[in-house]
Amino acid sequence: SIRVRFAPSPTGMFHVGGARSALFNWAMAKQSGGTLVLRIEDTDASRNSPEWTEGIIRALAWLGMDGGEYEGPYFQSANADKHAEAAATLREQGRAYYCDCTREQIVERTGDSHKGYDGFCRDRGLEPGPGRALRFRTPDEGETVVVDLLRGKPVFKNSALEDFVIARADGSVTFLLANSVDDMSQGITHVVRGEEHLSNAPKQQLLWEALGGTPPVWAHVPVIVNEKRQKLSKRRDKVALEDYRDEGYLAEAMRNYLMLLGWAPSGDREIVPWDVIVDEFRIEDVNTSPAFFDVKKLRALNGDYIRMLPVEKFVAACLPFLERVPFEVDMSVFDQLAPLAQTRVAVLSEIGQMIDFAFLPEPPYDEQSWKKAMKEPAAQILADAAEAYRDAPWRADELKDRLEAVGAAHGLKLGKTQAPVRVAVTGRTVGLPLFESLEILGRERTLERIAAART
Ligand code: GLU
Repeated sequence: SIRVRFAPSPTGMFHVGGARSALFNWAMAKQSGGTLVLRIEDTDASRNSPEWTEGIIRALAWLGMDGGEYEGPYFQSANADKHAEAAATLREQGRAYYCDCTREQIVERTGDSHKGYDGFCRDRGLEPGPGRALRFRTPDEGETVVVDLLRGKPVFKNSALEDFVIARADGSVTFLLANSVDDMSQGITHVVRGEEHLSNAPKQQLLWEALGGTPPVWAHVPVIVNEKRQKLSKRRDKVALEDYRDEGYLAEAMRNYLMLLGWAPSGDREIVPWDVIVDEFRIEDVNTSPAFFDVKKLRALNGDYIRMLPVEKFVAACLPFLERVPFEVDMSVFDQLAPLAQTRVAVLSEIGQMIDFAFLPEPPYDEQSWKKAMKEPAAQILADAAEAYRDAPWRADELKDRLEAVGAAHGLKLGKTQAPVRVAVTGRTVGLPLFESLEILGRERTLERIAAART
């Protein structure tokens, strides 16, 4: 059965691109009864931190991949002996050689800083020593054919593959070697990873072959871009998965959305439960064109997921966000508002501004909203509404009917009539369904606020 792996480097906040790769691998493992291996590639000591490793494990768990869902975590640093052994083997077999060329010397000889290594040390028979790196000797002739499930069989001319470094002068091994040796020793059958690694695949495949392994099947998934078609970057874009969590995106929505970056389920569906995704996902069907990370679409999808929650789950999901609001929340009132809020929020962090009017002594003041809603004949509508509400049965449907009648007397539709009342009572032009909100707020406070808005 298949063995796939997710092999992040813990060098920063875990980002959405990594999350997508992890999910693709997980879905593949699940649907085939295979195994997902988690390998933390922690060999770049200068950029690693245990904090980032914890962040990866925590974020995977949030997405549904807790420790029961994968084998490991393995740490690349723990495999150092195998890496060194592989480097030694390649040298003994004559597949690797020591080189003492500096970058400057290479550029001087080739006259081009973009060209690869020119093979100067290939046959010099250098012994190991200070300033000497170990390079893999790529074949001069022939081709390396990479089997990529998304890209057919990309062909790489061996003559165009430079003799690349597998161990640096300080003895540390490079990504290309460590990553291949780990994949081999962990029995990986399919390597699913970002497109930026496609050019590494032929080099790694040569390493596998030289070390006596059968190369894996590859799948290089497309880059993720922003609305300007730029590759997502942590300087420009919001990329940390946990920032989305903290803003109130649901794990289920995030998981669903990330799977649709490059892949689409059958039919025209966007909301796809995880078990259906696992069932339908085919790595071969992933598109190779850049995948647009559309935050608007993600927001909308998240809103759909919020609306699908049982109301108790919605309340529970709101709790951490209620802790951060700058007012005291009476939970018995919140329980009444929750079903209304659930119809309106797209991300949970919006909850505070949806419900603040019910908990603050006075409605919040938003200048834009006042300017927009309080123009003629707003004053008259507020006066008439106060009158109509004085003895109205305090129920949403009654409150709506009475305001509708007020509007009709001015030749206005309900939407227009509602605006000044909404702003008077809630402070904003947009918010929860109005009449249900008034019902919860009560007659006294509603009339008080309407009166205050008229002065
Ligand atoms: N540690 C590498 C990365 O995060 C892994 C690449 C791979 O999956 O082979 O880019």
